[in-house]
Amino acid sequence: MTHKMELINLKKSYNSVKVLKNLNLNVNEGEFLVILGPSGEGKSTLLRTIVGIEPLDGGKVMVDGKDVTNKPPNKKNIAMVFQNYALYPNMTVYENIAFPLKMAGMNRTEIKTKVDDVAKLLKIEDVLNKNATRLSGGQKQRVAIARALVRKPALFLLDEPLSNLDARVRYTSRQELKRLQRELNYTFIYVTHDQLEASNLADRVAVLHDGVVEQIGTYNDLYEKPATKWVGDFIGAYPMNFIDGNVLDYPGKIIGFRSVWTANGDAIKAKINLIENSEGNYYVHCTSGDDNIVIKTKDQYSIGDDISFDLTRFNIYNDGILEDVKLIEDYKKEVP
Ligand code: ADP
Ligand code: MG
Repeated sequence: MTHKMELINLKKSYNSVKVLKNLNLNVNEGEFLVILGPSGEGKSTLLRTIVGIEPLDGGKVMVDGKDVTNKPPNKKNIAMVFQNYALYPNMTVYENIAFPLKMAGMNRTEIKTKVDDVAKLLKIEDVLNKNATRLSGGQKQRVAIARALVRKPALFLLDEPLSNLDARVRYTSRQELKRLQRELNYTFIYVTHDQLEASNLADRVAVLHDGVVEQIGTYNDLYEKPATKWVGDFIGAYPMNFIDGNVLDYPGKIIGFRSVWTANGDAIKAKINLIENSEGNYYVHCTSGDDNIVIKTKDQYSIGDDISFDLTRFNIYNDGILEDVKLIEDYKKEVP
């Protein structure tokens, strides 16, 4: 059975610092939801208050329509994997995984079956008798996931579980985690500051900023149609380009765009000042009036070249908020 969660008006402050300010978020059944935000935005605080190891100042946590806000953490049926794994150092891997079942009063035979099953699932059968501190980072992370999974929780919260691994292990672990979530049909709430992880793993991404979910959607939605200028600056290998609205006859507005047609374009004229090479593409940095622009292209240019291009689509921002999305075909109809 899969489970859903609703977070309603969550509030949390540390002294005078308001970390969560009436945060609302719905997580669908079987969804892989990624919470993405820069460091210090309150991602860990959010997870800790959901499980209840930190008290909320206000708001409700609903699981499958039931209010679980005031249940103690071990009664909430929500498991969490911590960034530093938090394994018990004086126990073997087996004992670590068995621990939550032992606490729940399960008998030895039943515990053994469950631990063996989950160990097989995570491919850690051969380290069950090792001390947990003697494992590699990747193995520790699997044990932490196994220990959370073995309870068969309704919801699974993961706080940057791959951030302590090296790049290659992180890459394979990411795929395995995604496969695991799909196979088990679990609801995952996965916190990261890493955009690549977010774009690869998420069904939907919730961008956390200034104590609330500033935007939620597929990674592509966030990339192409950032709801605010802040999200446009934050998402992507490069920020979205923002230029003065006067350029395209939107006085007082800001135009946001990413993709361009460089062939025979004439909407925007610019001068190239830097070119970066990136896996078959060029990031061409240029200036147009007072605006700095970075465009991704396969075409070759040189520093100092003039470049002129059309936009394939662009967004109109008013006071930092998305007001309209234009595809160039529609725009041409309006401006003959
Ligand atoms: P993130 O996980 O997004 O990096 P955190 O949730 O760890 O962010 O922190 C959010 C803010 O709350 C930060 O300003 C941090 O300093 C503050 N904070 C987190 N935990 C505590 C705590 N126990 N006491 C005081 N301030 C805290
Ligand atoms: Mg954190």
